[in-house]
Amino acid sequence: MSHPQATDLLGLGKRYWLSVYRPRDVVLDHGKGARVWDTEGRDYIDLGAGIAVNALGHQDPDLVNALVDQAHKLWHASNVFYSEPPLRLAEEIVEAAPFASRVFLCNSGTEANEAAIKLVRKWAASEGRAADKRVIVTFHGSFHGRTLAAVTATAQPKYQEGYEPLPGGFRYVAFNDVEALEAAFAHGDVAAVMLEPVQGEGGVMPAAPGFLTKVRELCTQHDALMVLDEIQCGMGRTGTLFAHTHDGVTPDIVTLAKALGGGFPIGAMLVGPKVSEVMQFGAHGTTFGGNPMAAAVARVALRKLASPEVLLNVERQANDMRAGLAKLNAEHHLFAEVRGRGLMIGAVLDTAYKGRAGEILDIAAAHGLLVLQAGPDVLRFVPPLTITDEELAEGLSRLAATLAEFMRESKVA
Ligand SMILES: *Cc1c(COP(=O)(O)O)cnc(C)c1O
Repeated sequence: MSHPQATDLLGLGKRYWLSVYRPRDVVLDHGKGARVWDTEGRDYIDLGAGIAVNALGHQDPDLVNALVDQAHKLWHASNVFYSEPPLRLAEEIVEAAPFASRVFLCNSGTEANEAAIKLVRKWAASEGRAADKRVIVTFHGSFHGRTLAAVTATAQPKYQEGYEPLPGGFRYVAFNDVEALEAAFAHGDVAAVMLEPVQGEGGVMPAAPGFLTKVRELCTQHDALMVLDEIQCGMGRTGTLFAHTHDGVTPDIVTLAKALGGGFPIGAMLVGPKVSEVMQFGAHGTTFGGNPMAAAVARVALRKLASPEVLLNVERQANDMRAGLAKLNAEHHLFAEVRGRGLMIGAVLDTAYKGRAGEILDIAAAHGLLVLQAGPDVLRFVPPLTITDEELAEGLSRLAATLAEFMRESKVA
């Protein structure tokens, strides 16, 4: 990095931030659509969208207007008083969610899941159920966030190590394994099953056909709640507003965040009629949740992400993206598998290239392309849902250059 300003900025991060992140050596400055520019003026095609957050791309004019208009009115009200944006958002989000009757607004995905976990426990405790019926079943490879409860729900040791003692009452099962799930119910103590319809951090792994239906059946049969974490896969990413719509199931609780604010922090827990009265006055809360600025932006994001234009674009660009990846793979034989749903796509590195996703991300950045990894072996593509033909074609062409360079380096190494 030659530019003095960028070098200084990188230095600040390395000097002053808690070292929990290791960003690539790029300082982003501004964006438009699926393109972003760094502080040196170099442009990138953004196929990561801030981890599936900027679903409407950068600087969407309607989001900008919503934020600016609200900024001139009221920034914060707390939940001691009403303000209009979160009231309207609540109505619109419940209207858009056939399974839901109420919503709790918060500031992040983790908080939405924490609320869901607490609701499950309250529900299990409140209606004279067996004293040991408190267990929440989650799945290997899942990711549910970073608070102690959310990280305990996250059945991946790398996120938990060093934070013991962890809260009790979680049981981990192999993802997409119906027999193992049935066995987990055998103890008679399961209060809920919580899962991502498409696992994100765990490697872009969709639930197998019929798996969500099976979860629903078992939950109903055993008086347990079905909790879906759609923080990454929801809000249009798979081609429907909610990812579980593909499976035709009715969950009891769904959590949202990431794309819900189009880049402004907001999370939500949507609850169905069965559990909508479980949490009463004083049972839970947040100072910032449902903040008028966040809610004003999310109203617009929700309306646009639910629109047929955006959802059809997801389908179309997903086909093009997959076709592009297949073509590149025919040349390089780099991927063992390309999987996912809609514009949530994972390219799994072949065993010969195991553990090398990070290297490919570095090369991509040098070629003006932002992609993500999902673990060390999977390239993750979660572009804005509004990505245009031109932007995607340019992204694929930069990916072609990236993979060609990676293969050259691999042969030399
Ligand atoms: C990102 C993510 C979370 C955590 O959301 P934060 O906003 O980072 O707290 C939880 N679950 C899933 C599936 C996610 O992708």
